Amino acid sequence: MANGGPVEHGFPHLETVRAAVTALYRRLSYDTVHRFAVSVAPADVAFCDSDDLYLGAQRVARELVRHYRLPDARMIVGFREMRHAANVELAAGPEYFVELNERFRAHRRDIGAALAHEIMHVFLHRLGLSFPGTRENEILTDTATTYLGAGWLLLDAYREDAVSSQKLGYLTPEEFGYVLAKRALVFGEDPSTWFTSAQAYTAYVRGRERARLDERQPPLSAAGWSGRRRYARDRRHAQDHRPLAVVADAPYDFVPDAGGPLRVAFSCPTCLQRIRVPVRGRVRARCGLCRTVLECDT
Ligand SMILES: [Zn+2]
Ligand SMILES: [Zn+2]
Repeated sequence: MANGGPVEHGFPHLETVRAAVTALYRRLSYDTVHRFAVSVAPADVAFCDSDDLYLGAQRVARELVRHYRLPDARMIVGFREMRHAANVELAAGPEYFVELNERFRAHRRDIGAALAHEIMHVFLHRLGLSFPGTRENEILTDTATTYLGAGWLLLDAYREDAVSSQKLGYLTPEEFGYVLAKRALVFGEDPSTWFTSAQAYTAYVRGRERARLDERQPPLSAAGWSGRRRYARDRRHAQDHRPLAVVADAPYDFVPDAGGPLRVAFSCPTCLQRIRVPVRGRVRARCGLCRTVLECDT
């Protein structure tokens, strides 16, 4: 887990974040994702400076192991001086050694956030799910932590004031907000009351705006007027020109169907996998991966 440096903002990793959500649904299935309908409760991972450091860290780790449904896994938490914020040894188990940076001794309230990320590494390791490259794999880990209900802790560990800033994880605060909002839309959750950090809440609101924008892209019926107008123009162009040219900067592509009608491909706003539907006016499609019903005007 990374540590330090200036805090990056915006959505620079959005493509990998979206691929991570799709990969989670593919690897876990709809049913397993829906077993994580309830997030980690703030009271269950609370850690105050008067709690015993080792007993408290073990208690929070046990709570996260329970949340991730890793029944036989045992986390052994230690502290040492290191460059990174935290690290976990991915061995065969059932015991896993998690090392936290010394500075958490004095910042106990963020221990839950660090453990949420490190124990997710164990979860993904056992699942055999990884992305190539360290950076991509860390983005997958943060995204999975958040989508499965523990990542709000990572976002809440983001704090900034006139003299200092702190952020954990590889996603920007806004990207954490984006994944958190995607999750909230699926499970009807409202994470906004859990934040202790005002900056984290602001980032959540920005991420939520971005997440809602995914639901208003053509060919979805909820798309706005200007998006629909552009879509109609691109569709006309696609119908007149074959083979098809790629539509630049659009959230959709037109694809020919062998001998059949034109089809449009776009991302499911929930699981973000590519979906194809025929171009023939109003179409109701159901995403095969996350089962979301999509009202489209193609
Ligand atoms: Zn990591
Ligand atoms: Zn879907």
